[in-house]
Amino acid sequence: MSIDFYFWSSSRKGDSISENDELNKEVVEETIKKFEDGSAILKEQNILVFFDWMCFSLIHSLGRLIIKDTPSYKTFIYKFAFLKFKVKNFSDYKFIIYISRKVRKEDDKVFKVLTIAHELQHIIQFINFKDIYYQNAVLMSYFWTRENLKNELNELYRKSPIHVDAFKKSKLIAIKVCGIERVDNLIEKKIDNAMSENDRNYWSNIKYLDIKKSYDLQKEAQKFWDIYEDELILKKDEIEKKKKISELEYEEETFLEACEYYSKTRRL
Ligand SMILES: [Zn+2]
Repeated sequence: MSIDFYFWSSSRKGDSISENDELNKEVVEETIKKFEDGSAILKEQNILVFFDWMCFSLIHSLGRLIIKDTPSYKTFIYKFAFLKFKVKNFSDYKFIIYISRKVRKEDDKVFKVLTIAHELQHIIQFINFKDIYYQNAVLMSYFWTRENLKNELNELYRKSPIHVDAFKKSKLIAIKVCGIERVDNLIEKKIDNAMSENDRNYWSNIKYLDIKKSYDLQKEAQKFWDIYEDELILKKDEIEKKKKISELEYEEETFLEACEYYSKTRRL
C-alpha cells in the first residue's frame, strides 16, 4: 500500500519534479498526518496524487477524487490516457487525487491543504460509507438531467452532504496545519479577489462553515436523498422507456450509468 505522486510536466526531458513540487509532496504528507485516526486508513490505500501541468485540462475544479469502479474513472482515463504508460502499475491505484495546476503553482500552503484534505476526506467517506458515495453520483447526474436544476448545480454541489463533510474536515485540517489566522486570512483574500459569483460563493461557504458543530454524514445524506428520491425514480423510468441508446442525451446516459453502479451496492 502506498501514496505516490505524479507531477506532469511540459519538459522535453520528461516529467520531473520541480522545486515547488517538493513542497507539494510535503504538504500532502503533512496533511495526511493531521487526519489522526484517518491517517492510518489513508496509509493502507493505494493512492496516486496527480499534479496537473496544463491550464485547462477539462477538469474544471481545484481538485478531484477519482475512484476505480465508479462512473468518473472511465472519463478520467479517457482524458489522461498517457498515465497508463507513464505510471508504473497504474491500474493498481484505487484512488487518484487530481490536483489542478492552480493549486500546484500557488505559494499559499493553506490553499493547498484545503484542497488536498478535501479530496482525502472523500477517500475516507468512500471507505466508511460506500453507499452514500454512489448515491451522491446518482444525485449529481440526476441534477444534470433536469433543466430546472442546472442553474443551481453549484449550490447543490455545496449543499450535498459529502461535500459539506469534506469542506468541514478540510477547514479543520488546514487550521491544524497552518493555524486559524492564516486560514481566515486566505478565505477573506479569496472572497475579495473572487473572479465570479460562483467563486465568491465557494469561499463564503467555507467561511461560514461551523466546524465545531458535529456533522452526522449518514443522517444528512439520507435526508438529502429523501428530497429527490421519488422524482429521480420517475426520471429513471422515463429515460429507460426510450430504450434505444441513440435516443439518449449524454446527461441521461450518465445518469443511468450512475444508477447502475449504485444498484450494484444497493437496490434503487
Ligand atoms: Zn469534493
